[in-house]
Amino acid sequence: MTLQNEESNSIPVADVVADIDAAESLPELVQETATRNFYEYSLPELEEFLISRGHKKFRAQQVFKWVYEKRVEDYEQMSNVSKAFRAELPTLFHFALPKIVTELKSKDGTRKWLHEIDGMTVETVLIPNKDRLTLCVSSEVGCNMACRFCFTGKQKLKRRLTTGQIIGQFLHAQDSLAKEGLRVTNIVFMGMGEPLDNAEAVFRSIEILHQPNGINMSRKKITVSTSGIVPLIPLVTKSGTRLAVSLNAPNNEIRDFVMPINKKWDVWQLLEACREHYRESGDRITFEYVLLKGITDKLDQARELWNLVRDVPCKINIIPFNEHPGSGFERPTPESVIAFQQELIRLGAHVLLRRTMGRDIFAACGQLTSKYEGRPDRLDVQPGL
Ligand code: SF4
Repeated sequence: MTLQNEESNSIPVADVVADIDAAESLPELVQETATRNFYEYSLPELEEFLISRGHKKFRAQQVFKWVYEKRVEDYEQMSNVSKAFRAELPTLFHFALPKIVTELKSKDGTRKWLHEIDGMTVETVLIPNKDRLTLCVSSEVGCNMACRFCFTGKQKLKRRLTTGQIIGQFLHAQDSLAKEGLRVTNIVFMGMGEPLDNAEAVFRSIEILHQPNGINMSRKKITVSTSGIVPLIPLVTKSGTRLAVSLNAPNNEIRDFVMPINKKWDVWQLLEACREHYRESGDRITFEYVLLKGITDKLDQARELWNLVRDVPCKINIIPFNEHPGSGFERPTPESVIAFQQELIRLGAHVLLRRTMGRDIFAACGQLTSKYEGRPDRLDVQPGL
């Protein structure tokens, strides 16, 4: 999608998956009369637009650098931009980011932002780990994938986020960290929503995040996670980012139960797509595996899991289930979590056990949103930093 027409430079999402809606159209992008939200556009799109208005290509680069690298939104401060162009810019673009409802900080250093978008809320989480500050961003409000263990999956898809709403999550976090001399080092598309169900906005955001004249985040520091929309996995490969797959079961029978998407694209199709990703990119895949007591945490299932993935260069993140009301699932005991991990290690797997972080600020995906529901008084935690 470009400013001028919707055909060029678009990712053929709808062509690939007939029954998954293509990313919602962005009427704002094609209105010729209104100003445009600057944050919705990649640099090539801005260049194309400004060229169509009779400006030189480098003008787009100048403004892009001011906005993303120097975090300046006031055109008058863009000192190397000509006066005439500075005067015209407000007739072309405005700056609109999602509103921050609250910013919370956990005792363990995890931070969480709740953003309001058209009266709905989405979450963004910052997870500190050694020398990394990883930002987990949301791509949708609600989610249609209906994974049984997931809090967000209980809410049907309400909205796919636009590029600006995704980028806004990053900018709010980065602006906040910058005050402390810190910066986001890694980004994972693992928040609310299935990123590949909103592929166009997600991959445009990645182009903005990666752009050397702006945020300049290495593609290898960005991970896109999927529940298993197999035909769209090549888009991750093409984007040069890392792939994470929410696997969560050692076989089709259990995966059909915990992740309904498996009935459409089963484990064998999913693993073949992962192998293809590795062949093309040379990047190991991360498999996420939620341990559900009595369902996915048995030792013979650790062996079954290993047999499933052993020929895919990968690491396995095991995640003890984060209990929430009405889930119907339980968290395994610490002993069975360790036993599961040890069995995988014994077999030769590269396994990481994810600590549960930010429990005091509802860090499990969708929990804070649910707690809030438009009622700040429900946040019985200390807002702010
Ligand atoms: S785990 Fe991810 S894909 Fe599955 S329902 Fe939750 S948000 Fe959607």
